[in-house]
Amino acid sequence: MLDVGVNLTHEKFSKDRIEVVLRARTAGITGMIIISSTVSDSRQSIMIAKQDTKYFWCTVGVHPHYAYTWSKESRTEICKLINEPSVVAIGECGLDFYRSFSTRKQQVYVFQEQIELAVEFSMPLFLHCRDAHQCFMSILKPWLPNLRSVLLHCFTGTRSELELCLEYDISIGVTGWICDPYRGRELSKLIPLIPSNRLLIETDAPWLFPKDIQLVSAKKRNEPCFLPHIMETVAKLRKDDITELSQKIINNTCNLFHLA
Ligand SMILES: [Zn+2]
Repeated sequence: MLDVGVNLTHEKFSKDRIEVVLRARTAGITGMIIISSTVSDSRQSIMIAKQDTKYFWCTVGVHPHYAYTWSKESRTEICKLINEPSVVAIGECGLDFYRSFSTRKQQVYVFQEQIELAVEFSMPLFLHCRDAHQCFMSILKPWLPNLRSVLLHCFTGTRSELELCLEYDISIGVTGWICDPYRGRELSKLIPLIPSNRLLIETDAPWLFPKDIQLVSAKKRNEPCFLPHIMETVAKLRKDDITELSQKIINNTCNLFHLA
């Protein structure tokens, strides 16, 4: 089982990153993609990935929250980092109109820049979209025929949004959001509608702790070791055999990111 979205460079992991990875291995996680939110983050992700090239891969890119940090140098720097062997996608990039830490104009510009890079370098795109579906799709659509592969990570949209993504062959990343009895109710109903060849799973750790796990610690920090719990929930919702589904999802992950 591979965790395709771990914010392993996040400061919440700075004190015990080694233990977090150890717990993940013990829980049966056979590899992870470290996702980046800024250019400096991207450099750090690559550094961590180099420590075990058979276990870690990473993305390079700028999250919509940090679109305001983008400059010409960011593009040049990302172009350089793409050549690192551990880099498997551009991202996470996209739009977030829920928090709007950067202006919409900045977010749109930085999203377009990174789509262009993905096309230019023939790299998969690792996408984030929150409360911005219409704008997001209108920017992305014209590029789709030229994009190698696309993952919309941490999908939290509606049924019609999901259907549109699937129509355009966008793969869907599912997180522990579905384990939240309140926020995850709508999404849980959509899980059986995702074709098994379009489905990927991720924790988005340290975010999105699966709320139905009883944890003694008050921290409630999410970790990759909770991925099997998400996997079980997904299989249950789809009434699928967990072993078969896990294998399919591993294949999807390897195909989408061209993992060796
Ligand atoms: Zn995200």
